[in-house]
Amino acid sequence: MAGRINDEDVRAVRDAVPIDSVVSEYLQLRNAGGGNLKGLCPFHDEKSPSFTISPSKGFYHCFGCEEGGDTLDFLMKVDHLSFSEAVERLAAQAGITLRYEQGGYGRGSQQGERTRLFEAHRTAAVYYAEQLQGPEAGLARTFLQERGFDQDAARRFGLGYAPAGWDHLVRFLRGKGFSDKELTLSGLAQESSSGRPIDRFRGRLLWPIRDIAGEVVGFGARKLREEDNGPKYLNTPETAIYRKSQVLYGIDLAKRDIAKAGRAVVVEGYTDVMACHLAGVTGAIATCGTAFGGEHVKILRRVLMDNSRSEVVFTFDGDKAGQKAALRAFEDDQKFAARTSIAITPGGMDPCDLRLAQGDEAVRELVESRTQLFEFAIRSVVEQHNMDTAEGRSAALEEAAPIVARIKDAAIQHEHAVRLAGLLGILDTQFVVRRIGQYARWARERGARPGAGGAGLDGRSA
Ligand SMILES: [Zn+2]
Repeated sequence: MAGRINDEDVRAVRDAVPIDSVVSEYLQLRNAGGGNLKGLCPFHDEKSPSFTISPSKGFYHCFGCEEGGDTLDFLMKVDHLSFSEAVERLAAQAGITLRYEQGGYGRGSQQGERTRLFEAHRTAAVYYAEQLQGPEAGLARTFLQERGFDQDAARRFGLGYAPAGWDHLVRFLRGKGFSDKELTLSGLAQESSSGRPIDRFRGRLLWPIRDIAGEVVGFGARKLREEDNGPKYLNTPETAIYRKSQVLYGIDLAKRDIAKAGRAVVVEGYTDVMACHLAGVTGAIATCGTAFGGEHVKILRRVLMDNSRSEVVFTFDGDKAGQKAALRAFEDDQKFAARTSIAITPGGMDPCDLRLAQGDEAVRELVESRTQLFEFAIRSVVEQHNMDTAEGRSAALEEAAPIVARIKDAAIQHEHAVRLAGLLGILDTQFVVRRIGQYARWARERGARPGAGGAGLDGRSA
């Protein structure tokens, strides 16, 4: 049961951290005049910023959804925290020790549940990082060396090692005052068949996964030994602080560079994020054990803001499943899709392999070699057909036209229609433009998405 925090302490905490520094951990802010700042609202879906904060008053207000309040309200809403958990989060940031007014058995028993889970992860991350230096972690260090990561890289990303054995972490965290219930709720431990908590990660190399504000919320764990019969990668399960649809590995390190450069680079694995950052592609992030989805789009959009020059680059190793996933990802978000590019790594290598084989420069070039998502989709269709025959060109047109018809922005649609005509070698550009117009009309009349029933972005050719 969370205890009541002393009122004076609540006020001190609220005053200690400026609202703009708290909010800017979650979204990009720009000057809105009159000393105010604005950004894309994290509480409703919007494409131009109506979320405003007033640093002098310490308040935020959204003109779109009418959400508003102070720093604590913001944290409660954005991270689903209770009031005391929000106070505890800010107090930790400000270095303020809180006084609790009701009885209890010491500090731990009075803190909010999520605060306890954050603390358990923070403590575990330090413990695991220490283990990576120990004699048992030789295999983990070799794994890293073989992939081009030295000690500095391991430290920069806070990597760790979970000792083999059943309950090393459980015993360590119990010693730090965490209850068995907290350990199970955190996902750091799981119940054994006899009902006692055992370590979830055993004998594995660990990547701490941080939320956008930099708090460790989970771990990704790589198998190192043959006798480990678990999956190659094991992640933290869904918990009160870890939702895989909303975490992006590396976002805490990448967000400022993403905002500054107006570009995010989405890769597939933890080692790829590391390789990219070390190669100078510092806007690299990855999903954790799930496909890139709508929630991830929202997070990136808030970091990129509504800057029309900003873009998201997806890297793939040429594997069809990955490409299909990329094409499917943006059906509902055309504005995002229009700014999305695809970069295919040469020879089926991932960015980590690429850096190892050809160095940092090759990783940077990979990102530079990107192709726009729509163009990529259209090219993929065209490549399936024989452009030397009229039948082949016609079949390619019929398959690619519905894709272009799905682009809602008229100017972008026209641009791609002309490009498609060029790819097909059809000199009568207007013919292609009209055909695409027809598909778009049919789709509107059916009230369905263009391409439904035919080939879409995820159609049979992709
Ligand atoms: Zn709003």
